[in-house]
Amino acid sequence: MLGWPGALLAVEPVVALVDGQRREIQPLIRGDGELLPLDAVISGQGIGTRAEAGNSSLKLMYQGREVTLFHKKSLASVGGDLRLLSAPSLNEDGHWFIAIDAVPRLLGPLLGKPCEWRAASRVLLIGNTGVPRLQLSTAVSGDLVRVVIEASERVQFRVEQKPGRVTVAVLREAVDVSFHQERLTGGIVDLVQYVGGRENLFAVTLGRRFGQVKAIEDESPPRLTLEFEATAETAAKPGAPTATTVAPAPVGQRAVRTVVIDPGHGGSDTGAKGPAGTFEKDVALNLARRLRAQLVNNLGLQVFLTRDSDLDLGLDQRAALANNYKADLFVSLHANASRSQGVKGSEVYFLSYQASDDESRRVALAEGALEPGAAGSPVAGGDVALILWDMAQAEHLEESSALASRLLDELAEATGKGRRGVKQAPFRVLVGAAMPAALVEIAFISNPEEEQQLLSEAWLNRVASALTKGIGRYESERARRTGQGPARSGP
Ligand SMILES: [Zn+2]
Repeated sequence: MLGWPGALLAVEPVVALVDGQRREIQPLIRGDGELLPLDAVISGQGIGTRAEAGNSSLKLMYQGREVTLFHKKSLASVGGDLRLLSAPSLNEDGHWFIAIDAVPRLLGPLLGKPCEWRAASRVLLIGNTGVPRLQLSTAVSGDLVRVVIEASERVQFRVEQKPGRVTVAVLREAVDVSFHQERLTGGIVDLVQYVGGRENLFAVTLGRRFGQVKAIEDESPPRLTLEFEATAETAAKPGAPTATTVAPAPVGQRAVRTVVIDPGHGGSDTGAKGPAGTFEKDVALNLARRLRAQLVNNLGLQVFLTRDSDLDLGLDQRAALANNYKADLFVSLHANASRSQGVKGSEVYFLSYQASDDESRRVALAEGALEPGAAGSPVAGGDVALILWDMAQAEHLEESSALASRLLDELAEATGKGRRGVKQAPFRVLVGAAMPAALVEIAFISNPEEEQQLLSEAWLNRVASALTKGIGRYESERARRTGQGPARSGP
């Protein structure tokens, strides 16, 4: 799906269900719109195609019906009638691309089948396929938390209890979910997230007061109710005022529970740009989502992203978000750029006032540095809050260095790029973080070969599992150092 010249990586693939068969299709971003590669949409459906007018139009044929697309034109002919499209169709080197929302309007009449684009859940339905809509609701009352997943039709749920979490898989090819995540109070359940993926997974992060969980299934309406109860020790006694103090943390209190991942840049700040036009901001978000899924799934961690869409977010706000979430770790994700296209490899940084070398100084300047005399700099005497925060990160430098080493070890092993070294530089985004924090430059987007890797889902998944393993190893080692535990090892 990837690697067309000039293709920009869309943030998320589209899930297409064609007569019940699932396929993931990577869209192409052009202007404000998303286009789908036509081959991937129509393959296996018996649709004939014929290039016409010297490749400037394409005729699709099915059971005597016809649809014609025109290169660089926002219109199509459906059985002789012209239809306006939201974006022009494109023929790039013999591959045709059409606007996502044009698929139902063109393929529906051509195939004579129902065809629907559900933008909110990014599911494209072609043919007679039911995709259940799932709605999640929560209720917290005293010593009981209820999480209810209601489905628009019967689905099979698979509930699993694992250390620190309960997961619910919904065993369907695709589902329609608009729920994202919700934090709960009261200490029985901390967080409910929709992680998605192949198993349409929901993950419930258990809190310190969690005692037991019960799952109840109903058929009409089809729904799953999870009831989470507090431990007997922390449950309020009948007649007693509701406890506001929380019992001592049970065994199993982890050295790392919450991780905040920061996809670098975003919105008008595109970050570095690769020779084929790939933006660092898109790669960073794509990787951050994959890393979140793996940390939740494999390590049972609670994970937040500083941004989960393409938006502008200030450097100081990112660490502030991590502080608000009381994160145990903060990891900022980036892709490096160099004027020389030959430079490649991964680097991991933690904070210092002095860059460890000229190259590190250059990277810090590109990513937003603490400049001497600027607000937040220790010599400026300007912004008091920033200086205090800055001291907070100073307290964590030793742990930050340990985190950076573990991340780089695993990255180097997984990507075979060799260790370019753990480095230090005055990154502004790390200054405010009141927890161990590292900044990862995954690869050089300026290197054409590495740019292609950053566009490969398989490669990004490998990087996400390497970072997950690194965080797992860091957690075990920290648990050993601080006597906290028991920590689980990596995936
Ligand atoms: Zn960056």
